[in-house]
Amino acid sequence: MNERPRVGVSSCLLGHLVRYDGEEKRVPWVSEDLASEVDLVPICPEVGAGMSVPRPPIQIVERASGTREIALVSGSGDVHTAMRHYCDSMRAQLEAQRIHGYLFKARSPSCGLIDTPYFSESGDILRKGPGIWAETLIARWPTLPVADESAVQDEAGRKDFLRRVREFWRGDLLKL
Ligand code: SF4
Repeated sequence: MNERPRVGVSSCLLGHLVRYDGEEKRVPWVSEDLASEVDLVPICPEVGAGMSVPRPPIQIVERASGTREIALVSGSGDVHTAMRHYCDSMRAQLEAQRIHGYLFKARSPSCGLIDTPYFSESGDILRKGPGIWAETLIARWPTLPVADESAVQDEAGRKDFLRRVREFWRGDLLKL
């Protein structure tokens, strides 16, 4: 039984040096306040899928056929297959570990929750939506409390996220 909620988090929000540009993007509220309230489970799907730091930037492309995939912004090469495998395998791991919430990095092709741009094959932004890892997680656990870094910039957003996480965790304890 978990003594505290377990919350997945995009590793870069904790200051881990995993970003494509090698830069640090720590959010102090996450690494200090949130970490004092819950057990954090840091996950970087891009590094987990075997990508290096630094690495060529990637984006989501919607093909004319209607399929959507992760692709290099410039150049060629298949980055989608490894990412798809990683997402499926990490989803299975989390099924075994149990988590009670997830905090995502905004706008990322992997971790973005609502605002990741989807590009056409010719490079135009068609619309925005979740990144491939966030989409995998939401599809598996539609009721999991989730938020991105933009939603926890103020006190009200932080309290709301923590409240939802605690409620989900208490409900999870009742099922054990
Ligand atoms: S946004 Fe996600 S994939 Fe990108 S560096 Fe952060 S944790 Fe890794």
